[in-house]
Amino acid sequence: APAVFTGVDVYQSSFNPQEYLKEFYTLSDSQGQPNTFLMENLKILFKMFSLDGLRGDTLIDVGCGPTIYQLLSACEHFQEIIALDYTDQNRRELEKWLKNEPGAFDWKPVVEYVCELEGDREKWAEKQEKVRKKLRQVLKCDVTKANPTDPVSLPPADCIVSTLCLEAACKDLDTFRSALKHIGALVKPGGHLVMVTVLRETYYAFNKQVFSCLRLEKNMVEEAVEGAGFDVKFSEVQTYLPGDIRTDCEAVLSLVARKLASIT
Ligand code: SAH
Repeated sequence: APAVFTGVDVYQSSFNPQEYLKEFYTLSDSQGQPNTFLMENLKILFKMFSLDGLRGDTLIDVGCGPTIYQLLSACEHFQEIIALDYTDQNRRELEKWLKNEPGAFDWKPVVEYVCELEGDREKWAEKQEKVRKKLRQVLKCDVTKANPTDPVSLPPADCIVSTLCLEAACKDLDTFRSALKHIGALVKPGGHLVMVTVLRETYYAFNKQVFSCLRLEKNMVEEAVEGAGFDVKFSEVQTYLPGDIRTDCEAVLSLVARKLASIT
């Protein structure tokens, strides 16, 4: 594990989106081994976005990175999507895909996999276009700021989704708790938070770069979500066997929470 927290400056200077995508977002690795981490996350995202009430006009993706897998089931239930990330090169990589520019990452196998889960593998091109059409803005954000999109103020959304971001962005549990309050403020009362978080991970590495991760337990995440004014409606843990040299991740927590009406 790295001795020090890798903050936004490290992300900005050393996070290579293309290498990240190659390392973690192909369905099988160079030895032909299936990417169970990705496939399990796609299954649980499909399950969570199928829950009652997970629909509305607007969805905000917090800490999107260069990826779209987290929007594939979500896009069926929301009309407009706004994606946020700190790092310039990650937002740029996402826009490359959005505009179908040369060199953009090929999400087809992943989109096909999700379409198969949803019942029709042949609909992959349609779904891909749906994401492109609905994803309206890709904006800079910093989850450690009270208004993560400052100086832009976004109208509160019906739902926010955040995958593998806060545990990377927060140096300690207090920062994690405040970050949840900051991103929680981007949702309307009665709206939802969909989160996928790694548990007990202290680092992940790719492209010879190591990134720190806040070591979290299930109850810490749930308590922080509740502390941000949400009621946890769904929570499931998927465990992983040790042996992956790229990370010491032990499990993934997926949860859906509903924002309570404000007391003020
Ligand atoms: N959601 C994507 C990317 C996760 S990688 C996925 O599921 O694969 C972690 C992401 O968090 C990176 O894109 C990084 O740029 C972003 N990040 C790190 N610190 C941040 C901060 N303070 N505010 C917003 N995003 C941050």
